[in-house]
Amino acid sequence: QSQEFSQVRIDYQAALYALVEDGTKMVCTGRMHTDRVCRFESLCYSTEAEEFVFFQSNSSFMLPSLGSRRFQPALLDLSSVDDHNTQYFNFVELPAAALKFMPKPVFVPDVALIMNRFNPDNLMHVFHDDLLPIFYTMQQFPDLDLESRLFFMEGWGEGSHFDLYKLMSNKQPLFKEQLKNLGRLLCFTKSYVGLTKITTWYQYGFVQPQGPKANILVSGNEIRHFTKFILGKLNISSDDSTSDDYIVLFSRTMDRLIVNEAELLLALAQEFQMKTITVSLEDHTFVDIVRLVSNASMLVSMHGAQLALSLFLPKGAAVVELFPYGVNPHHYTPYKTLATLPGMELQYVAWQNKDVANTIAYPERSWEQGGIIHLDASEQERIMKSKEVPRHLCCRNPEWLFRIYQDTKVDVSSLIQSIRSVIKTKPGSRKQKWANGIYPGKVRESRCQASSSEASGTKLSVSWQIPWNLKYLKVRDVKYEVWLQEQGENTYMPYILSYQNHTFSENIKPSTTYLVWIRCIFNKTLLGPFADVLMCKT
Ligand code: UDP
Repeated sequence: QSQEFSQVRIDYQAALYALVEDGTKMVCTGRMHTDRVCRFESLCYSTEAEEFVFFQSNSSFMLPSLGSRRFQPALLDLSSVDDHNTQYFNFVELPAAALKFMPKPVFVPDVALIMNRFNPDNLMHVFHDDLLPIFYTMQQFPDLDLESRLFFMEGWGEGSHFDLYKLMSNKQPLFKEQLKNLGRLLCFTKSYVGLTKITTWYQYGFVQPQGPKANILVSGNEIRHFTKFILGKLNISSDDSTSDDYIVLFSRTMDRLIVNEAELLLALAQEFQMKTITVSLEDHTFVDIVRLVSNASMLVSMHGAQLALSLFLPKGAAVVELFPYGVNPHHYTPYKTLATLPGMELQYVAWQNKDVANTIAYPERSWEQGGIIHLDASEQERIMKSKEVPRHLCCRNPEWLFRIYQDTKVDVSSLIQSIRSVIKTKPGSRKQKWANGIYPGKVRESRCQASSSEASGTKLSVSWQIPWNLKYLKVRDVKYEVWLQEQGENTYMPYILSYQNHTFSENIKPSTTYLVWIRCIFNKTLLGPFADVLMCKT
């Protein structure tokens, strides 16, 4: 019946018997619908009802067991975008006995990852919302390997970047629309539903103006592990250090143009004494662009989704993001946040057109392309006069769209100045070998001893041993931070010390209990954990 799955033989009668007997089983990770991914056995999907079905039997289980809280507002988010009300997942329940009266199920033998893509036509969304989360959801659950299959339930077609999604597993992804052709009732033998959000760094402004996520949990290391996987799949050999240094100007050809690209190219080439190449999604294949970007010293581009490809820049490279007139770079930072993630090791420069004479606006375009003639005359006038788009929510703010879709004549000397203010050395050169980022363990065997005498007053001697992991490491700079806190007080006296013991004599009171907190610090910035607090009586 289903050609898609015919290559794998399954014992249909046995599978059907098991479904009727055992029903559906679910165990999820995560405490909230926004951080949940669920694993199912025998989750089914009615293509007629467009509903997932949980078949209840004596062997079923459902964890978390939420009761009707499962609908408040949903069991989980199907996309990696937090709590978006178009992306909720739930299922309806039926007794397994109801299968007798239902269409014959078609079993999906592949391990399935069931999810929504958020905006498959936009490259930034493709990487940030879908590909990275898919990659790390698959890392999280070992049976989601290259033989598993992606199911896209958001209801869109392939989109402009389907080739990229196809890299994630050896099996062709399937769309909601295609499921109808497979059968009326599909049953996924083993499936995972939802995506990890642990790799996302940006929120798009649905409930508060856009900006970096409050609690970013990804570093450049994980990003680069992902890009290495993609480069491998695209057969691009990374780190081609033999070739000459060059700058990539990533241009847009439809809108948000740089109208003096030739002048800009020349100026960049001259200033940095490097070859300069222009690429665009319209004129180059994706593979060619990624190959070029992955060895570039600098990537220059207007703000826009194409800048997501700075993911592929080598360490040490520079990202130069250009903003049209009226668009404050500090308010739109998806690419800045990416470039400055710890361990990305990219340099970041923002430049904004401040000269209204150098902007080309399009008030007559459609509203999606930033047109404003559909607005009241007074509102149009206010927007035309405004020097900066005020903070706003996603996604249809007309003033934002008007400004972001302007073309720009880049004032080359002011741009070079902006770049030079950040990039002092040759772009692309890795100025320092990055600290390896290993944190100290707790200091060990900490002790304290009080003494007092008429002559010298009260003293407190504290000593400790180095953290256990230090003896296996070469660390340039090892320091210890010690806090002395009088019991019952909120404040403490902090000290930074170089040795493993110290005698404190200033401001030490007699007959007082001190709490002593000690931690180790590597290379000034890598703060270790505090050891168990010491109680010291003078
Ligand atoms: N795009 C492009 N060339 C253009 C305009 C857009 O390749 O001249 C791409 C862009 O990189 C993105 C998609 O089309 O992947 C949607 O662009 P849009 O302007 O809607 O989004 P933005 O780039 O502002 O995120």
